[in-house]
Amino acid sequence: MIHLKNSAQITAMKDAGRITGEALLIARDMVRPGISTYEIDQAIRRYIEKCGAKPAFLGYGGFPASACISINDEVIHGIPAKDRILMEGDIVKIDTGAVYHGYVGDSARTVPVGKVSEEAKRLIEVTRNSFWAGIEALKVGNRLGDVGSAIDTLVVENGFSTVKRYVGHGIGTDMHESPDVPNFGTPGRGTRLCAGMTLAIEPMVNVGACEVKEMPDGWTVKTMDGSLSAHYENTVALTSDGVLILTQIETDF
Ligand code: MG
Ligand code: MG
Repeated sequence: MIHLKNSAQITAMKDAGRITGEALLIARDMVRPGISTYEIDQAIRRYIEKCGAKPAFLGYGGFPASACISINDEVIHGIPAKDRILMEGDIVKIDTGAVYHGYVGDSARTVPVGKVSEEAKRLIEVTRNSFWAGIEALKVGNRLGDVGSAIDTLVVENGFSTVKRYVGHGIGTDMHESPDVPNFGTPGRGTRLCAGMTLAIEPMVNVGACEVKEMPDGWTVKTMDGSLSAHYENTVALTSDGVLILTQIETDF
């Protein structure tokens, strides 16, 4: 069942979204060769707690940290650790969320570490653009397949592939609500979009094939072929006046 939100609930979700976006900006500014993913995770946690919010990821399904931090061919769900040190040329995906007054924000960005390859730069840009292509299709009366198809089409046009095994999701008082929001689909198919839907739209894009595998740690997901992967996510609300990007802050990246 899809929980539609009224305007007061969407306003409450804006606060959770803003805190999430600000935490990601702090994390982005820390990214440099030599820093551990643990240090970035700790800074995210401190900021979220300073805001009077709770890290949504900490303890979720037993996850041990406040952010998923995934490097290069790791797609999602990387576990921050003191011995995971960022190196020049890496790309790092930081995915985090905050719970504030009972509502959850969920957002992710991919950040280059120092100077990265042209291909890595293009992957990050295409992933970000595919999110915005999805947003253009996110309209009352359209269907979820229109959104997924818009994302996938842009990715495929650029020679990359979208991950199929993991998808975006509804979000509200729970981090994962109905419906699933795949990054692929058939135009005109799937759930009809209506005002009051709040969704985490999150393209995961691989340079190579779309297949992924889960690591023995039970969390980290990597590309099967070892190719680079990027991730871009915002929590959004669909209203009768259009789309609100709840986790976007003034300094967007
Ligand atoms: Mg996320
Ligand atoms: Mg999500």
